[in-house]
Amino acid sequence: MQKGKINVQTENIFPIIKKFLYSDHEIFLRELISNAVDATQKLKTLSSLGEMKGELDDLTIEVILNTKKKTLTVRDKGIGMTAEEIDKYINQIAFSSAEDFINKYKGKTTEDQRSLIGHFGLGFYSSFMVYDKVEIITKSFKKGPGSKAIRWECDGSPEFELDECDKKERGTDVILHLSDDSKEFLEEYRVLELLKKYCKFLPVPIQFGMEKKWEKEEEEVVETEESAEKKDKKPGKEIEVPRIINNTSPIWKQKPAGLTDEDYKKFYRELYPMTFEDPLFHIHLNVDYPFNLTGVLYFPKVKKHIEVQKNKIQLFCNQVFVTDSVEGIVPDFLTLLHGVIDSPDIPLNVSRSYLQSDPNVKKISSHITKKVADKLEDLFRNNREEFEKKWDDIRVFIEYGIITEEKFYERANKFCLFKNIENQYFTFDEYKKKVEDSQTDKEKQLVYLYTTDPLEQHSFIEAAKERGYDVLLMDGVIDNHFVNSLESKFEKIKFKRVDSEVAEKIILKETPLPSKLSVEQQDSLKPVFEKVLDKEKYHIEFESLSETDMPVTITQNEFMRRMKDMAAMGGGMPYWGEMPETFNMVVNSNHPVISKLVEMTEDESREQLVKQLTDLALLAQNMLKGEDLTSFVKRSIGLIG
Ligand code: ADP
Repeated sequence: MQKGKINVQTENIFPIIKKFLYSDHEIFLRELISNAVDATQKLKTLSSLGEMKGELDDLTIEVILNTKKKTLTVRDKGIGMTAEEIDKYINQIAFSSAEDFINKYKGKTTEDQRSLIGHFGLGFYSSFMVYDKVEIITKSFKKGPGSKAIRWECDGSPEFELDECDKKERGTDVILHLSDDSKEFLEEYRVLELLKKYCKFLPVPIQFGMEKKWEKEEEEVVETEESAEKKDKKPGKEIEVPRIINNTSPIWKQKPAGLTDEDYKKFYRELYPMTFEDPLFHIHLNVDYPFNLTGVLYFPKVKKHIEVQKNKIQLFCNQVFVTDSVEGIVPDFLTLLHGVIDSPDIPLNVSRSYLQSDPNVKKISSHITKKVADKLEDLFRNNREEFEKKWDDIRVFIEYGIITEEKFYERANKFCLFKNIENQYFTFDEYKKKVEDSQTDKEKQLVYLYTTDPLEQHSFIEAAKERGYDVLLMDGVIDNHFVNSLESKFEKIKFKRVDSEVAEKIILKETPLPSKLSVEQQDSLKPVFEKVLDKEKYHIEFESLSETDMPVTITQNEFMRRMKDMAAMGGGMPYWGEMPETFNMVVNSNHPVISKLVEMTEDESREQLVKQLTDLALLAQNMLKGEDLTSFVKRSIGLIG
């Protein structure tokens, strides 16, 4: 037996890694299985090149848990290692990269450390985070004198042991001896959970099972050479219920030409077993140059709570799961999509802030944006009817993209749709043509009217329709921001909610009608209104409107309302959120009832009529509630009687 000392400068490398990687301990299994997959893939390549003679046989990677011995074994039938290779790859390279990690990691802020840790492939060394002792038993595929089976053992300190052993099969067993503070990895469900998380789509079959060998050993105290050989030849025999846990040929690695819609849906269900709804459509990504990227993205039906839907995209690196938080890698609006992205070109071993500025990541991000826009434009051009049918489910996504990504807007302005209250759909250009003539005001400003709630704003919608105006439906979760964003992108177009002004004034066409009331008469009426209303909340305005308009109407200034809405959603200036809510009480000075008010001499009945008028205005806006509503009903009955 040979004992040696690994050449590292940092003597206490082990406790440092163990301590700082605490929260990401579990990645050790991903790293070990990745190594096993690499060794298997290398063997396949060598065999196809004719450099490896003989049969490949079954290449399934086995993960074996032995709760009695407290070991977890990862067994591959890959290329294996010679003594020389162990020395080079494990004693020197693996340890020096762990040391590199520590050095890189020293001067970082806590935030950076965390992100570094999560994605730093510590490789083989990461097993020392959870295990006290690691054994490697390996036999190289190479034949000849220097290729005897080798056993290597180390406890994470720079000292190791190296010895020949009698492993018969080609490949490598990495046997981890569990440390007392990592008992979780002795739980079957926990190991299975990790395998499902990281290995679900690895290209080599992965089998997991519990080893019951110790029970046998208790029976056969003396192990003969013959029985040992038998065991080696049938490795799966003592493993209880071995299960293959992965799909080695996931859809994104296949050619789109050979796949049906149903195949994509099936894969969607495989990715999200807890989601019952089918996706609307998908995009198959396949790029070779200037970077390598494959993947499938799905459009889900976007629901009201968009935050809940994020983090559904899974990022892979050569079929190894890396993360399901892709912020910074794809534009924010794309995180509403579901699916997988697989790229060996995304540098995973660095912090997120670095990732965002990485030129490859930027290219990948703009490529995906472009692909998504292509797909949407295709759908729109090839089957507009279908596209309109799906509109309600994809609009949030498209609107979000328009608000946040200029590049996406440049494409989406051709297929983004407006929907009006008649359920008709228009592109931006079509809509402009439709309302240009009727909705341009005297300042040559085009005014787009919208409603956020057709039921509540019904009377205003009717009034706008009577004037021949069109009203858009803007009842989506982010329409507030969307309207603001479009206003800044469109030239000379203003959006106004139908109830932001009385219909006659919402699109000012000409100089207002002359008022039937003199300024003095208006001044004499104002205090009567102020008496029955909360002065802080309602601002009284006299307007000369048409005789057929309502005598009193409540409106809310567009700008003010938008600012308050934004503040309520956590955007804009919070200052607006604290402002008390105010409304305009617009009195139509040309309405006969208002003229009647001026003529009335008895204060009490005049006040009662004003109260009745303002209550009606409140009622029309669904703002008359509680005690006020009860007394309105009583008063109305009194008036009828
Ligand atoms: P990395 O995988 O990033 O190269 P590791 O520290 O995980 O780094 O492994 C170091 C080297 O040890 C690998 O590059 C490989 O040459 C060798 N190695 C590790 N595991 C195996 C294995 N199961 N079979 C064959 N060689 C292995």
